[in-house]
Amino acid sequence: MSKTFSVQKNDYIDVEFVDLTHDGAGVAKIEGYPLFVAGALPGEKAKVKVIKVGKSYGFGRLIELYEKSPYRIDAPCPIYKECGGCQLQHLSYDGQMIAKEKQVRDVLTRIGKLENVHVHPVLGMKEPWRYRNKAQVPIGEHEGGLIGGFYQQRTHQIIDMEACLIQQEKNDEVVQIVKEICGRNGVRAYDETSHKGSLRHIMVRHGLVTEEVMVVLVTRTSELPNRKKIISEIVERIKGLKSLVLNVNSKKTNVIMGDETQILWGEDVIYDYIGEIKFAISSRSFYQVNPEQTKVLYDKALEYADLNGTETVIDAYCGIGTISLFLAKKARKVYGVEIVPEAIEDAKRNAALNGIDNVEFAVGKAEMVIPRWYEKGVKADVLVVDPPRKGCDEALLQTIVAMKPRKVVYVSCNPATLARDLRILEDGGYKAVEVQPVDMFPQTMHVEAVVQLVLKM
Ligand code: SAH
Repeated sequence: MSKTFSVQKNDYIDVEFVDLTHDGAGVAKIEGYPLFVAGALPGEKAKVKVIKVGKSYGFGRLIELYEKSPYRIDAPCPIYKECGGCQLQHLSYDGQMIAKEKQVRDVLTRIGKLENVHVHPVLGMKEPWRYRNKAQVPIGEHEGGLIGGFYQQRTHQIIDMEACLIQQEKNDEVVQIVKEICGRNGVRAYDETSHKGSLRHIMVRHGLVTEEVMVVLVTRTSELPNRKKIISEIVERIKGLKSLVLNVNSKKTNVIMGDETQILWGEDVIYDYIGEIKFAISSRSFYQVNPEQTKVLYDKALEYADLNGTETVIDAYCGIGTISLFLAKKARKVYGVEIVPEAIEDAKRNAALNGIDNVEFAVGKAEMVIPRWYEKGVKADVLVVDPPRKGCDEALLQTIVAMKPRKVVYVSCNPATLARDLRILEDGGYKAVEVQPVDMFPQTMHVEAVVQLVLKM
């Protein structure tokens, strides 16, 4: 379809916003042509300047707001615009809940062509701030001192930061202390242009329930000036410290952690709980960053799995076994599969830690391992998937359709791939009954959802 648009670069036009993009920009439609404008909210009317006109969409800049959304608020964070880590602070939390529910509903209809699926209102947080249990702060230098905070949007310029409003307060406090101690003891920041200097990142993890703290210094080489003094000062000043780790990353890379780790002081792990399950978390482990909402999400997954203790369950994409262990208490047997070998080691350790012995974990691709299990006679009554953003591999979906578990519980961090995969499962004989979005990342555009699918008779 060829069409000449009335929109030209540098035009000033009046528009009304109808939606949000996945990165939080307002969407206006000009004769069906989408124009994305940062900072605008659905329901708002504004004058915008067109700054870029592409084939299927364009970009504009907000010039004047004529009509504000009733959900518009002033972003509480002073560095909101420079940082870019959050996208929705200018939208009230009620507004965020509405936007996220709409996002899930829209893609399920548009991409998944799903009708009659019940999308519940988003389960949000009572206090949608200060929730992250892990901070990873890039370190730089300014006027001879260490600074640490965040990369200014679209640059590699480090901006110093004292507080991040979605970070647990303890993490902010620990980062400040460690930065100060390292700076005073002659630690130089890593410079990515010259590949010189030492301290690249300070990482902090904090157990929400246990209040245990892990500090990881990520450095270019294993040398640390005034090593003993730095260790003793950190140990003395950080209450709750259980683990102090040096991670050496000598590569020219954006990847934060390197391959070599040394325990400078204390244990190699900290512990935390999600519900009644205890988890050991090492510096390299994947662990959910919002433990409070993780509990909400997994409780919902458990409810949708609807177990009575006699079932065989498969947890595909099991990570460190979080969902598997959650389900194990209510099932006869749980099989977990995950591609990262270290995560499976953690999963096994966590099973032992909780005295759970009806789980079995395997390393490999879910789409390869599950068909092999199926050939050997393992047939799941309930199958749970929690894939990364790109969704499930088609081969896995076909295996599910062949194996015919009574129920499938789909935990998703990306509604678009969820919708695509649900379509395939629906075509294969399943019905998506209920969808429960859960807000794991308030103030950002991310939305997580759990879906219950049942096999049609
Ligand atoms: N359920 C876990 C982790 C979910 S994140 C939890 O809640 O903690 C998704 C996981 O899928 C990651 O751990 C990732 O390493 C893993 N993964 C990615 N591709 C995979 C594949 N093809 N097969 C199995 N696991 C995979």
